[in-house]
Amino acid sequence: MLKAEGIHKSYNGLNVLKGIDLSIKESEVVSIVGSSGAGKSTLLHILGTLDKPDKGGVYFGDKEVSSLSQKRLSQFRNEQIGFIFQFHNLFPEFTAIENVCIPAYIRGVKGAEKRATELLKILGLLDRKDHKPSELSGGEQQRVSVARALINDPSIVFADEPSGNLDSQSADDLHNLFFDLRNKMGQTFVIVTHNMELAGMADRKLEIKDGIITS
Ligand code: ADP
Repeated sequence: MLKAEGIHKSYNGLNVLKGIDLSIKESEVVSIVGSSGAGKSTLLHILGTLDKPDKGGVYFGDKEVSSLSQKRLSQFRNEQIGFIFQFHNLFPEFTAIENVCIPAYIRGVKGAEKRATELLKILGLLDRKDHKPSELSGGEQQRVSVARALINDPSIVFADEPSGNLDSQSADDLHNLFFDLRNKMGQTFVIVTHNMELAGMADRKLEIKDGIITS
């Protein structure tokens, strides 16, 4: 489904990624680990088409994404990719269901509210759908951001330290949710994490060290 070949990236002379090769299969849950500053977020942003490598290519199917224009790339990202961040980045003035619907409104599809309601139900948030983020717990806010990541039925979801800001029970619930979504919906996940329990639960754990994948 996704392949990266020879990814290099440096910032101000600091070589962060020095030739990353990887491939992700459909319905896989892959974790990316490594010490702080190893380049995990940099790699995730490049795989998620939010950033470009200096050298190397990212392929979805047989399509190399850097060949797409900015406009096509934004559309591709909106339709094919979901993102979950450590800090949920929900809009505070919108309710849970409105936040979930935003990527679908951008895409211009009909029936966003129905799909959002289904997702909030699956995620156990139906009775919270009209609450604003400030009225939700950290775990609930993060589950809203999972629903938002899934609203356009993405091929792949990238998560950057999704449980980094949660208490251990909410983190466990969120981790189990990822595997539930994979088992029930075949959802593919690539997850950067410091949480060794989550990293170990994944089908494959990739470690970045000295700019390359060591295992
Ligand atoms: P990790 O996610 O593994 O903690 P990052 O990918 O965030 O690591 O960062 C890797 C290295 O690249 C760090 O030294 C960081 O300071 C540097 N870096 C990341 N993004 C930028 C940027 N936009 N500008 C300059 N340096 C950056």
